[in-house]
Amino acid sequence: MRFNKVFLTLSSFILTIFTGQAQTVDSYVNKIYPELDALYKHLHQNPEISSQEKETSARIALELRSLGYDVTEGIGGYGLVGVLKNGPGPVLLIRSDMDALPMEEKTGLPYASTKKTIGNDGKETYVAHSCGHDIHMTVFVGTAKMMVEFKDSWRGTLLMVGQPAEETGMGAWKMMNDGLYEKFPYPDYAIALHDDPFLPAGMLGYKPGPLMAGVDMMNVTVYGEGAHGAAPHKGIDPIVLSAQMIQAYQTIVSRRIAPTDPAVVTVGSIQGGTVHNIIPDEVTMKLTLRSYSPEVREEMISSVKRISENLAKAAGLPDSKMPTYWIREPHTPALINDVDLTEQMVKVFKNNIGEDKVVEVEAQMIGEDFSRFGMQERKIPITMFYLGANDPEFLKEAEEKGLDIPGLHSPYFAPLPEPTIKTGVKAMSLFAMDILKNQEIMLDEKK
Ligand SMILES: [Zn+2]
Ligand SMILES: [Zn+2]
Repeated sequence: MRFNKVFLTLSSFILTIFTGQAQTVDSYVNKIYPELDALYKHLHQNPEISSQEKETSARIALELRSLGYDVTEGIGGYGLVGVLKNGPGPVLLIRSDMDALPMEEKTGLPYASTKKTIGNDGKETYVAHSCGHDIHMTVFVGTAKMMVEFKDSWRGTLLMVGQPAEETGMGAWKMMNDGLYEKFPYPDYAIALHDDPFLPAGMLGYKPGPLMAGVDMMNVTVYGEGAHGAAPHKGIDPIVLSAQMIQAYQTIVSRRIAPTDPAVVTVGSIQGGTVHNIIPDEVTMKLTLRSYSPEVREEMISSVKRISENLAKAAGLPDSKMPTYWIREPHTPALINDVDLTEQMVKVFKNNIGEDKVVEVEAQMIGEDFSRFGMQERKIPITMFYLGANDPEFLKEAEEKGLDIPGLHSPYFAPLPEPTIKTGVKAMSLFAMDILKNQEIMLDEKK
């Protein structure tokens, strides 16, 4: 971070260099595109679910090694780190996630995934890159190539981080626990992208400040006293009690959280009982809680507990039968983009990709564990941008005819590879070079 001020004073200067370099950058991206296209289709047809990214990780490691990166594998599961040292300067971390989803692809594309695997629950499942992490990895490898090709334009250390298990919220946490920030140079900045099915390919989205919410997964187990379904007065029905709790949870966001603070409480699953005529003695509910601040998070968790416990008491249950709770570790922190770093990025994008190709996007209540890279003991500025991934013609038609646009995790999500990947590589590498800009070149130009 200490380099930031020096570099910022020279930032108008570097933009001139990049404008001059834009043509060279374009022709290099065009030159490497056939290899990237082949890599994309390989990854797309060979998806692996969270924590099983063995072959994917090995392939990315191979790509980085062949470019001269010093690669370490097996960090926090199948995580990998490729280091490229290029003289004195800041340390920049670029992250790509690598996992796919346990679902069937239904795009009908000639290179659609038909893969099946044994899921983390032991059951057979289809696998597909329906969140587009194959796009992320392809752009990541393209960026790694660019940073080698344009080595004279930057100084510093590049950390290329391939992260497993983003979809389960475990990957970044596991890499940190495995000493990512102790075994490798501590980054001054971290950047990443996510593809966006609602933005046309060729476009980029940014958002200074809050981008994605903090995520909690919580189980509430409600106890009761079992009885015959025809004699409810002889037991305490945990199904009726759970229904009361679900109703009461609706007042957490509407009556406990300030209307200006975004928050969500969703009960996504309720399971209890077996047959028509038995009142069971247990119900389990699965909740997701979303928030942007630790205070709101704390209020939601304590409210769920307070409501559950007091309704259990009101139902006449003894202290030994109060509800019990489980909250998934780790919690995914909210993703807050650094304002200065995001503004720097927008400048680079507007100057090199086009003023009309860059749009501000809205914050959402989905989560992303990229947030964790900025939240370690020494906090660092991070930013994630959105990479337009859909066919512009299709988006236009969908808007005109009111058609549904398949979003992330849809079996029909089908990114348009070429313009998406080319724009991603150009955007990511020019932004990286701007963060790591070479002062010597700038001083030479000044003479
Ligand atoms: Zn996803
Ligand atoms: Zn994703």
